[in-house]
Amino acid sequence: MDLLEVVGCPECKANLTPTNPILTRSGRVKSAVLLCEQCDRIAGEVRNFRCDFLHFNRHLVAERARYSRGTTILTGDVREVDIGYDDRRLVTTGNWVDWDQKYRMTEGNNGESIALHGAFTDLGARLLKHPWSGKVLFRIDGRDVGQVDLYQPELSTVEWFEIATDLPIGHHVVEIIAMGTRHPNSQGTQVFLERMVATCLDASAEDSRIRRPTDMTRVLPYWDESIALWDDVPTNGAILDCGGGDRTIADDRYVNVEFVPYQYPNVYGDTLNLPLKSDSFDLVISQAVLEHVRNPFVAVDEIWRVTKPGGVVWAGMAFLQPVHAVPSHYFNATAWGIEELFRKFRIDHIGWSGGLSFTMEWLMKTAGIPQKLPTADYQELLAKMQSLDKLISVEELKGVASGVNVLAVKT
Ligand SMILES: [Zn+2]
Repeated sequence: MDLLEVVGCPECKANLTPTNPILTRSGRVKSAVLLCEQCDRIAGEVRNFRCDFLHFNRHLVAERARYSRGTTILTGDVREVDIGYDDRRLVTTGNWVDWDQKYRMTEGNNGESIALHGAFTDLGARLLKHPWSGKVLFRIDGRDVGQVDLYQPELSTVEWFEIATDLPIGHHVVEIIAMGTRHPNSQGTQVFLERMVATCLDASAEDSRIRRPTDMTRVLPYWDESIALWDDVPTNGAILDCGGGDRTIADDRYVNVEFVPYQYPNVYGDTLNLPLKSDSFDLVISQAVLEHVRNPFVAVDEIWRVTKPGGVVWAGMAFLQPVHAVPSHYFNATAWGIEELFRKFRIDHIGWSGGLSFTMEWLMKTAGIPQKLPTADYQELLAKMQSLDKLISVEELKGVASGVNVLAVKT
């Protein structure tokens, strides 16, 4: 599926015109400004094959749109090259060490750097944010292009940073440089690199597509019930993962639309205002997303709009789950609640999952009980709760399940 055939203006849902595009040798759009002629405005951009309607720099994109360069055609195909933290191609200055078989890290003295030298056009990096992190500078070919504060008050999360986009063909150097400075609340100036990902021109490649080498999932795996539905989608059909998180599937029918600027989504867009044309998808999957949107009724209306007549939707969401992904956790639903959300559809099945002990264990974890009880006591409690699961019928579980789900058809 060509992504540009399904994306549309988030406001009016009309066709978008790719302006000043950079194309691969075979005509695939690597980057472009996306204009909505109906709204007479810039709706978004294509940046390294991803459509972005949320996180793009409107000022820069307007500049790009103003000066007509026409179409640029690359002399080859492109491929993504993954450069892990321990890759020999990374050049460091200062004291970097391997950490936990996951990262290359430094305590972050000013000027300590990690760099990639090579022939690439785009480069992104995955860096750890945590309570001991400091600030870093990004530098391309000796020019400072931005800085980020990697401090966050709780937990550790790896985030994706796009550093270079559409550099001229040729050799480049991208450096990530510790600044030796930090947020006042940070306990350190550390920098952790997990990987860099470079987009390289590959003149030898005959294949015109940028290959997604394998399926990659950094979020919950798919439920078996939703995966089973893929078989019914024709080879030229379209599957929408609505809020798919940091995931990509090597299937030409697949599109992941996601709000958060993770590495893998194909489209960055808002579930409440999908940048997709109406009646586009044979199958829509929404897994553990609807409890995280501000207005689930509007989100489901949008899912209804982009589903083809006769198309199928599978959605699962939280029922008796404690808060997670705070602060963007808003509304849980009962089995009757999810049915009400999908009232415009024909409902083929309402299901629920997550047994009583699973639900209670999650509640206890969120309340910090494992840290508050002696380990043996907590294990005993868990074992007792697990013994209760067999006393509960499927129908009784409907009232106490962790999650609920729906299989629905747009008629
Ligand atoms: Zn429009």
